[in-house]
Amino acid sequence: MANSISKIAVLTSGGDSPGMNAAIRSVVRSCAYMKLKCVAIYRGYQGMIDGDFKEMNARSVNNIINKGGTILKSARCMEFRTPEGRKKGHDQLKKHNVDALVVIGGNGSFAGALKLNEEFNFPVMGIPGTIDNDILGTSYTIGFDTAINTVVEVIDKIRDTASSHNRLFFIEVMGRDVGHIALNAGVGAGAEEILIPEQNLGLDRLLDSLKRSKKSGKSSSIVIVAEGDKTGKNVFELKEYVEEHLPIYDVRVSVLGHMQRGGNPTCFDRVLASRMGVRAVEALLEGKTNYMVGIRDHKLILTPISEAIKAHTAVDEELIRVSDIMTT
Ligand code: ATP
Repeated sequence: MANSISKIAVLTSGGDSPGMNAAIRSVVRSCAYMKLKCVAIYRGYQGMIDGDFKEMNARSVNNIINKGGTILKSARCMEFRTPEGRKKGHDQLKKHNVDALVVIGGNGSFAGALKLNEEFNFPVMGIPGTIDNDILGTSYTIGFDTAINTVVEVIDKIRDTASSHNRLFFIEVMGRDVGHIALNAGVGAGAEEILIPEQNLGLDRLLDSLKRSKKSGKSSSIVIVAEGDKTGKNVFELKEYVEEHLPIYDVRVSVLGHMQRGGNPTCFDRVLASRMGVRAVEALLEGKTNYMVGIRDHKLILTPISEAIKAHTAVDEELIRVSDIMTT
């Protein structure tokens, strides 16, 4: 359907994730290909309110596909949570003759986009950019694959030193509400136990498992702990607990922190971001609004933002089972 969209804005919002740049590049180049004007908004919704806009062309996004983070910067903006803040943002969009907006971010960023649409009937399209992989309507978010590969690489290194000293390591990974990073990286790195927010394995089971490992002659053990794991104990408390109940172990803790967000995106994330960017622009041109682009069974799909932000995606039960079998 032909419509009146001739200029599209793109922004990144919330926590940054590797592959956001590839998505920005894709939106900008898709606009160029489809003979649309494109403008970048810096610093997410804060930049929208402040009028921090920059015209883009296909060459503006040279040499960024391989870079982590986001060239547009990201921000959290309290003002955009208010009707007055969104009115200021909308005024800036109108002032710059923007007809539609692509938001690359997570649940909160999409909630903001939806409100902008509801209040001003402004066309919006979401692209899921977050390392957490927690958004309904897509099997993968941009940045997740890079993050789990980063975590696996680090665990491999920690395992080298752990096994040289017969040590037990508790490794904390990101995931306050969801255990996707912990579960996937844990299985991929061969962790002995994986503690996630969705499931309470219980401290007794952890001790039993560690005792079994010791008995069976394992020289080292790696336990992956998501930030929000259900035991309610953080990695340092877990260390104390195990030292108290299993003094045979020499326990160390490693908190991976923000390194999980950084680094060059994997090929998977670059391709995913490129595909999603094209689909976002196409969908806006088809007259669609309030959708998020996702991927399922290798095919791009559109999910209403209102659905996508309803809940976090559940962890894969089959992967939990695999993890249980692998940690036997
Ligand atoms: P991450 O996955 O990193 O948490 P996110 O997009 O969920 O990404 P948030 O900090 O929740 O990150 O949201 C980013 C920004 O979106 C907020 O700073 C705010 O400007 C806007 N936003 C979030 N929730 C709302 C809301 N309910 N109404 C309006 N704007 C919102």
